[in-house]
Amino acid sequence: MRRKLVIGNWKMNGSLAANSVLLRGIAEGHVEGNVDLAVCAPAPYLAQCQAALTGSPVAWGAQDVSAYAAGAYTGETAASMLQEFGCRYVIVGHSERRAYHHESNELVAQKALAALNAGLTPVVCVGETLEEREAGRTNVVVCAQLQAVLDVLENPALEKIVLAYEPVWAIGTGKTATPALAQEVHAALRKQVADRSATAAAQLQILYGGSMKPENAKDLMAQQDIDGGLIGGASLKAPDFLAIAKAGN
Ligand code: PGA
Repeated sequence: MRRKLVIGNWKMNGSLAANSVLLRGIAEGHVEGNVDLAVCAPAPYLAQCQAALTGSPVAWGAQDVSAYAAGAYTGETAASMLQEFGCRYVIVGHSERRAYHHESNELVAQKALAALNAGLTPVVCVGETLEEREAGRTNVVVCAQLQAVLDVLENPALEKIVLAYEPVWAIGTGKTATPALAQEVHAALRKQVADRSATAAAQLQILYGGSMKPENAKDLMAQQDIDGGLIGGASLKAPDFLAIAKAGN
């Protein structure tokens, strides 16, 4: 039985004052059950997350990481630096980074590898655009995104990743994939991992992301292959974020 995992993706939002209220609300309100909770904050606020969440059952992480270990990469953050601030997770390959920062499937795979090498859990995001869905290419696109990661990971490492299916057309739009539609893609992704390792596939947590909110979280997480959520907008208010987590229990 896989545990559920709900991760907040704050994106480029927050301030010391606002985070302080949000982090306190989350840490005090989270009831541990079958659901693990984490927040992925902008890099400058990771120390604040560490201070606020150490000793609580809520984990924290970053939203991106460099593919390189160290060196002349201005503006980048190394996985070892995230590790020093107690991060457990790091999102890699979010569609906003793929679109606005031109990240290729291969670069995303290298970032996942860099995260694993530093003892972090990469949350690998895959997802199709509306155009790709309408052209019937959803599975081709998401499977190619996943395959690039599978190609660089050995089997034991494969057991340590988290996957997130985030249809681009559902992110920040208020349009959520129906539970059945999301389940179909999640099942295809799990099968692709199973073709490499049955063990990794059985324990792989595949999160859904894209306008997930308290009202639709229960139905989504009730699906066989949906193991939690990657939450953008609704993770910025503690009551909404906690209600989504509760829906997974
Ligand atoms: P959303 O974002 O919940 O605001 O749609 C999800 C994400 O981009 O991770």
